[in-house]
Parts: sequence; structure tokens; C-alpha cells
Amino acid sequence: MTNQLLATTENANNQNSQYTSLNDSEIASVVAHINEEHLDELLGFLSVFTSLSTAELDRVDAQITDIYAEGITIQTRQKNSKYQPTNAQDNPLHDQIFFINFATPISQLDDLQAQYILLKQRADKKLGKKTIKLTKQVFDVQNSYNVSKNMLRLELSMPSLDDTQSNDDVQLRNTKGTTISTSVPTNEAGYAYLFDLEHNAMTNALMTDSTNDSEKENVCPARPHCYYTLRKAWQADDEIRVWVDVFLHGDTSGGNWAAALQAGETVVTKREFPEKVEHLRDGQAVLIVDETSMPTAARLLELWNNPTPPLVICVTQDADDQSYFDTVKMRSGIDNIGNDNRNTDSDSDSDTDNDCDTESRKDDHFTVLPIVTNQPNSGSDLATLIDSTLGDYLTDNPLQIDKVWGALEANTAKALRPLLRERLELSRTDVVVKVYWRHD
Ligand SMILES: Cc1cc2nc3c(=O)[nH]c(=O)nc-3n(C[C@H](O)[C@H](O)[C@H](O)COP(=O)(O)OP(=O)(O)OC[C@H]3O[C@@H](n4cnc5c(N)ncnc54)[C@H](O)[C@@H]3O)c2cc1C
Repeated sequence: MTNQLLATTENANNQNSQYTSLNDSEIASVVAHINEEHLDELLGFLSVFTSLSTAELDRVDAQITDIYAEGITIQTRQKNSKYQPTNAQDNPLHDQIFFINFATPISQLDDLQAQYILLKQRADKKLGKKTIKLTKQVFDVQNSYNVSKNMLRLELSMPSLDDTQSNDDVQLRNTKGTTISTSVPTNEAGYAYLFDLEHNAMTNALMTDSTNDSEKENVCPARPHCYYTLRKAWQADDEIRVWVDVFLHGDTSGGNWAAALQAGETVVTKREFPEKVEHLRDGQAVLIVDETSMPTAARLLELWNNPTPPLVICVTQDADDQSYFDTVKMRSGIDNIGNDNRNTDSDSDSDTDNDCDTESRKDDHFTVLPIVTNQPNSGSDLATLIDSTLGDYLTDNPLQIDKVWGALEANTAKALRPLLRERLELSRTDVVVKVYWRHD
């Protein structure tokens, strides 16, 4: 092992004793989760908080090895095991450990999330990337209705006071009448909000004038918050209009919250973050979705700025939810960025089409490969089914797939990533399969 390339202050080998252990049995599972889902963030931390160069980082994978009160340790490894040197000294970055300091030391694992988010925000800012925001936003509920058998569309709005602002940076008035600057992205697919389910439970409890504290506690949903995607957002007159599509699958906190919302109520979001879709700008892509990620794929299709249309693998429990994509028109959202949108899935059904789009409109047809399972879409068996369905399709329709984006249940996503990397001979960065939910 050599430290020549590394500033000694960055290299944490043999220095772990100077950091304070958190003594928490949950650390191993948190470390495993970060390594499974957040590799790109770890590489971002190394890029920003150490002196490793881009060329050096291109050659390594990273994994978090431990979490201390003062920060985290990240280990670098040679990327392709087949190129792994027989002698680690041939590669100075193989098996090196770096210490990344938190802004403020933590005393328990529960505090990790806040410090990790701060690291991510700092790293993303330096790298010029969009990042997670801990902003509170308040939307008004306008309407709700089903768009397929089990998909409920929430129509929300927010006042926009200053229409000289761009759509992505709108001045808003909060409920107390104070103007706050905030943003609702109108041209980003997969932008997700963490909805505060307790806000509505508490508001409803207050409305029913329940003075008993234990009764108020009982109204709290099993989960306090839930991520849902901004299916679409657009500027209309003096407000921003928003669609959020919620998959209803029985008696659950998120579904019950969405189904109970009435026009005139408010909904509150606590956190928001952009989806990882930059890699889809070129090449032949395949999108792999279940009911929870159909809204992201629908917006991706409307904003598709890659000349080659994607293949969409759509897995639903119920055949009747496959109709979700029937009204989605590829690239229909591109014309209207910065303009009003109509209340229809096909944004550009009007005379806004123009010649400059002709090039990008050469092929506006996307193929949906449906998979109907008649059961909740989770587990590794579903990954095998998706992989073999794609394999059969590619045998009949020889295509070179260059990029993958998908979002599925945790065990399905975990099992699918290696299957796809092997089948399509793609790198980790080209196969992005996110976890959108976990099966109990
Ligand atoms: C970034 C992001 C964006 C998301 N966007 C959307 C979106 O736009 N629309 C949307 O509907 N969801 C979306 N989700 C998924 C949503 O947050 C989860 O499905 C959430 O768990 C639903 O909460 P719940 O209260 O309904 O069920 P939970 O409280 O999570 O679970 C209750 C029970 O339902 C089961 N269950 C949970 N989800 C499903 C499912 N999808 N199918 C079958 N059984 C399930 C669980 O196994 C459990 O038994 C998104 C998730 C993320 C991370």
C-alpha cells in the first residue's frame, strides 16, 4: 500500500482510533445501504473533499467502511476486478481509506442523515449539480381523480406572485402572507417531494376539535412522510399548477392520505430532490418502471431530449394500470417549457409545434413492453422476469442498449442491477436502478 499520491491528512489508514465510535448495531446495515444505493455520492465526496483527480476517480469504485461521530471513512478500490493488479502497490488507489469530516460531529446514528445531507449539498454545489433541498413548501389541493385503475392524480397549486420570474424561480406568499422565494421545477423529470402526511392528520384532528392528546396521537399515520414525484408542473396565470400521481394499493398511510384529500386543503412538503437521469441524454435507453415510477417515466418521455426514443418496460400488478402511458406523448413537454401548459397529458397538441422541432421529432414513438404480474411487484423473482423479458425482446428486436433508468422495490432493484449490467455489458454509471419503495 502506498500513500504517495495522497495528502497524509486525507488518508485515514491506521488512524481510525482517533475517531469516536458510535457503538450502534445499526451501523452495518446503514453502511450496506449507502454502498448499495449511493455510490455516486461517495465518489462526489472524494472528488470534492480530497485531492483525488478526476482521472484517478475514474479508475476507482468507492465504499463507505464506517461511520464515526466525527465523519465517515471511504475506501477506494480498483474499478474492474479483471484489471486489478496482482500487487496492490501497482495501483496506489487500491484499498486506500479517506476520512470525510462532518460539519458538526454527531452523538448518535439518528443524526447521520442531517450531516450526510449537508455533505451532499456541499459536494453537489461544488460539482455544479442539482441537490437535495430541505425546504418546506405548501400546496393547495384543487382536485383529485383516477387516471388509471389504481392511480390517483392530485391536482395541486401554489400562488405565484411575480410573473416576471422564470418558472423555476417563483416568488410565493406563504400562509402567513410573507413572501418567500422558492422553486417548482417545470422541466425536470422525476423531481420528488417528501410529503408531510402528519400535517393533514393533525389538521383534520384539529378540525374535529379533538382536545384529547392521546386521540390526537392516534390520528398520526403509521409513516409520518412519503415521497411522491412531481408528475408535471406548469405556470398558469398567477399560479403554478402541479400533478402528483399516487398509486393506491390497499390500506396504507400514503394511499389513505392521498385518497382523503379534499379540494381546499393544503399539503406540505419537507424535502425535495432531483432524480438521476442525466445519463439518458444520448444512446438507446430502456426505462424500467412499476406503478410508483410510472410518473417519472411519463415526464421523462414528455421531456425526452435524446434523438433515440427509449424502450419502456412497465410492470404493473393490474392489467388496467397499463393504460397509464396511453395519453403520454413523447417530447410534448419540450415546446412548453416556459409557457403555459394545458390540463392534458399531451402538452403540445396545439399549434405551438414549429419547424425547429422537426429534427427532434423524427421519431416520437416509444415502445412499451408490458409485464402484468397479478401480485405486488417486489422481490428478486421479479428481477429475473424483467431481465428475461428484456432478453426475449432483444432477441426479436436486436438493439444495443446503452443506458438504463429504472425505479422499483428494494429487493427487485438490488437483484436487477447485476443482471442488467451483465446482459447489456454496461457500467454501474449507465445502469441506474433506484429504490422507490420497500416490501415489508
Ligand atoms: C424518489 C421517490 C419517488 C416516488 N414517487 C412516487 C410517485 O410518484 N407515486 C407513487 O405512487 N409512489 C411513489 N414513490 C413510492 C412511494 O413513496 C412508496 O410506494 C411508499 O412506500 C408508499 O407508501 P404507502 O404508505 O402507500 O406504503 P408503505 O407504508 O410503504 O407500505 C405499506 C404496505 O404496502 C406495501 N407497499 C408499499 N408500496 C407498495 C407498492 N408500490 N406496491 C405494492 N405494495 C406496496 C408495503 O410492502 C407494506 O406492506 C416514490 C418513492 C421515491 C423514493
